[in-house]
Amino acid sequence: MGGGYTGLWTALALREQRPDLDVVVLEAEICGAGASGKNGGFVHGYWSALPRIAQQFGDAAGLEAAHLGSRAQDAMRAFCTAPNVDVWWHEKGILKIACSPAQDASVQRLIETTRRLGVPEQAVPLSPAEVQRHCASPAFRAAALLTEAANVQPARLARALRRAAIERGVRIYERTPMVAMQAPAATADLQTPGGIVRARDVVLASNAVLSAWPRLSRHLTNFSSYMVLTEPVPDRLREIGWTGNEGLDDARMFVHYFRTTPDGRVAMGSGSGPVTFGGRLGKRTFADRATARRADRGLRRLLPGLGDARITHAWGGAIDVASDRLPFFGTFPGSRIHYGCGFSGHGVNPTYIGGQILASLVLGERNEWTQSLFCRVKLPAFPPEPLRFLGGSLVRAAVLRCEEAEDEERKPPLWARFGAAIPRMFNLRIGTR
Ligand SMILES: Cc1cc2nc3c(=O)[nH]c(=O)nc-3n(C[C@H](O)[C@H](O)[C@H](O)COP(=O)(O)OP(=O)(O)OC[C@H]3O[C@@H](n4cnc5c(N)ncnc54)[C@H](O)[C@@H]3O)c2cc1C
Repeated sequence: MGGGYTGLWTALALREQRPDLDVVVLEAEICGAGASGKNGGFVHGYWSALPRIAQQFGDAAGLEAAHLGSRAQDAMRAFCTAPNVDVWWHEKGILKIACSPAQDASVQRLIETTRRLGVPEQAVPLSPAEVQRHCASPAFRAAALLTEAANVQPARLARALRRAAIERGVRIYERTPMVAMQAPAATADLQTPGGIVRARDVVLASNAVLSAWPRLSRHLTNFSSYMVLTEPVPDRLREIGWTGNEGLDDARMFVHYFRTTPDGRVAMGSGSGPVTFGGRLGKRTFADRATARRADRGLRRLLPGLGDARITHAWGGAIDVASDRLPFFGTFPGSRIHYGCGFSGHGVNPTYIGGQILASLVLGERNEWTQSLFCRVKLPAFPPEPLRFLGGSLVRAAVLRCEEAEDEERKPPLWARFGAAIPRMFNLRIGTR
């Protein structure tokens, strides 16, 4: 269920390992209509998350996640650079840039952690002058160059995966939502408006909508991320020297991230959309003016060299947030219904890992995918509603206010510092900076 990257990588892995299996993908709209077709297109595994994962789960777990991300990156490179696949794959790295004094420590911590764990080549320090040679901006300070990182046109990738799945014999039904499921015994019946699919195994790969499913909602919530796209400004890009196709992002919790397009536009994302009540997606998930305006402000502040380049497109998409910010996978007890979700705004590379895990669960295999960190971590529970919505909204507002103040090198107000500290007080793993 779900024709985004997770569902499609799972279907491909299943047909590759067991060509005799009949694999059907039900997609409510068209493949790529969800987050997979509208994301920022940054392709990176877990090297940049190494400090956080190592702190939460230990150094070995941090390295394990990062090495699985490297395997995903290899597989994605092979797929995206194959003949007849044109997804605008550029593997020129991502610069994680400190864009205010408050962000210096986070970039430094990334560099120090990769050094301490013996993988310094994954986060190469760049001085402010070196950063300016990649892209000139008065807001840019020192950076870490994440070397194993690429960017793609996300919707092209979703459609290329769809094509590859069909070529390998997967049956894909678009505009075919699953509206109900009965799973009494050995098989499950997935009901759609036009008919029923009877399956031995079901894979739930429908992303943020799963946060309203009772059996997952304790560990999964959602908010939204926004993208803005400028008009083509190739001359301006040449003036600021940003012609190398590398991705750029800052070191905020509500991160800003940028890439360029072949016709000289800048696509910029801002992960700061509203939290939803009860995990139910609403209008503001996809069209929230305040969030789009914030993204626009971020663009002007971080890339003033773009001048008054017009924003021609803006859109939002839902992010499935796990209670420890790592994707999680499993099988509901006593059933053959498998789930994979919680990518937490970072899924282009990790959905490949998800596909391998979910295919292994369907095939009943115990291997390095199903025994990985993503399957064995015990997830903390979110508080019930309305506490989750009220608490989440307060922390979001507080962190936003702190980060905006820090961008302007002002001291954040006391209420915001207090609100932003709440997750740490309760030992939560999300909402922490
Ligand atoms: C604006 C934005 C920017 C992002 N930027 C990045 C980035 O730069 N790098 C990165 O790594 N990650 C990024 N992400 C996250 C990344 O896009 C996701 O983690 C990833 O695409 C998740 O893939 P998926 O297949 O699990 O979900 P989706 O792509 O959302 O696919 C789920 C599919 O399920 C379908 N569906 C839902 N309900 C039903 C039903 N009842 N029956 C059948 N089908 C159903 C939906 O239509 C959808 O197509 C971003 C996300 C957003 C929203």
